[in-house]
Amino acid sequence: ASRFEGVTMAPPDPILGVSEAFKADSHESKLNLGVGAYRTEELRPYVLNVVKKAENLMVERGENKEYLPIEGLAAFNKATAELLFGADNPVIKQQRVATVQGLSGTGSLRLAAALIERYFPGAKVVISSPTWGACFHHLNLYVKLSQGVPWSEYRYYNPKTVGLDFEGMIADIKAAPEGSFVLLHGCAHNPTGIDPTPDQWEKIADVIQEKNHTPFFDVAYQGFASGSLDEDAASVRLFAARGMEVLVAQSYSKNLGLYAERIGAINVVCSSADAAARVKSQLKRLARPMYSNPPIHGAKIVANVVGDPALFNEWKAEMEMMAGRIKNVRQKLYGSLSAKDKSGKDWSFILKQIGMFSFTA
Ligand code: PMP
Repeated sequence: ASRFEGVTMAPPDPILGVSEAFKADSHESKLNLGVGAYRTEELRPYVLNVVKKAENLMVERGENKEYLPIEGLAAFNKATAELLFGADNPVIKQQRVATVQGLSGTGSLRLAAALIERYFPGAKVVISSPTWGACFHHLNLYVKLSQGVPWSEYRYYNPKTVGLDFEGMIADIKAAPEGSFVLLHGCAHNPTGIDPTPDQWEKIADVIQEKNHTPFFDVAYQGFASGSLDEDAASVRLFAARGMEVLVAQSYSKNLGLYAERIGAINVVCSSADAAARVKSQLKRLARPMYSNPPIHGAKIVANVVGDPALFNEWKAEMEMMAGRIKNVRQKLYGSLSAKDKSGKDWSFILKQIGMFSFTA
């Protein structure tokens, strides 16, 4: 008998399951709408030109593959925090951000969950309903992996308007126990494609401050949603400008197309440089037994691209191109649905939503 007799079959991952079914399907005009990965007009995966250039530079320089320190590549951590907040932001100038390179967005969220579990036992994490992907990935992250973190949902989507349930969202954040962690998508909310307006962000910040909650941002699409790094970081910067302590997980999967390189970071904005240093030391302590240290290749790509003015500008142009194509596809989808659908349904929500996702019902 197997020692593993008692191990039950885990349910397949809904998103990756769709990819498997897609691969197995032989239909010539098949489309995979499951996984969130950019495709070219020819439906091919896209490796950014700046990434190829940065990789060539790395080969030319004969860069090595030595271990990174637990917190990751210093040049990457500096670049990633500056991209997020802006290099002149007081939180950067005053060294109030603890930045640790994580295993892309997912791994960075996971590290933050470990910090919450360890230092804020019993504190609740409140999550938008729905959240990414349809499989409630955040719930998996918190419920299955981090048993010690209690969670609940706040209303987000209003099917009647195919828009934001702003009143519901505010009421639920208000009703969460004082000192909860409020998980917010920085831009291009997954899966709805619906973001709060700047004015709504201010009101969300008001309630979060009122309730002594801590905002916890998931930023997976900076620069990829609007085409502008600054515009897509406006929500996070608004909270930081209020002097609030903020958690931000970042991902370079989409905006630099580094999906499988697993490049991202967790940033914790603290009210003092001293607190930031202590938080960073604990993030490292949590990371060490989980995966020891993060990958170097993609971190160097980011550092090289951001550190070279010509490559940085080329990256911005490629992000604009990707964001532009997505907007274009939305226009075309809206156009053909409105022309073909005789039911009188208003499809304009497709144009109002932003990013790769569209919630249609
Ligand atoms: N957060 C959101 C909202 C996402 O959509 C994604 C990717 N689908 C991620 C985080 C993380 O992806 P990764 O782990 O590849 O960075």
